[in-house]
Amino acid sequence: MKQEQGILDRLVSLFSKLPGIGKKSATRIVYHILGTDSAYALTLADELYELHKKILRCETCGGFTESNPCPICSDSARNHSIICIVERAQDIRIIEEAHEYNGAYHVLGGLIAPLEGISPGDLSIGKLISRLKEGHNIAELILALNPTLEGDTTALYLQKILKEFPVEITRLASGLPVGGDLEYTDRLTLSRSFRGRIKI
Ligand SMILES: [Zn+2]
Repeated sequence: MKQEQGILDRLVSLFSKLPGIGKKSATRIVYHILGTDSAYALTLADELYELHKKILRCETCGGFTESNPCPICSDSARNHSIICIVERAQDIRIIEEAHEYNGAYHVLGGLIAPLEGISPGDLSIGKLISRLKEGHNIAELILALNPTLEGDTTALYLQKILKEFPVEITRLASGLPVGGDLEYTDRLTLSRSFRGRIKI
């Protein structure tokens, strides 16, 4: 019995480390898993075990993928003359779910934040410049960055250093909540933001 308490406590503690999950929810989740078929727990454990082994970063866009290049970068039906620039790899999924955008992506891996010690050199900007130089006729870069101080700083920086390239730079502006997060923007708002993007 003592051992059983041990594993329950350990699992509650592990689940409560997840974002948005407090101790109460973690406890509910653990007891829920215990109450369901053991096959479910095994599948969950197997998939978690495989997660870090199977998921790679796409060498082109920096997105999460199981194959390199990722399915988006290697999809000839997509418009590769437009690159949507996002802060984090998971932002790609959020935008894909809005079903509005059919171009390529580029993950910056963060935003410029001098106070936190994050400078342009920490972001995947050199790789973006290489993509522009490789001459795939890139016509537009859409900055899908959150409208925060860091997002604005990064947008201004990109605008400045990309001036020499014959590429139009636009930004999702209308509809996104100020200081808000792409993650919490509903699909309709996100679709509208793409259609109403503005040139900067
Ligand atoms: Zn990719």
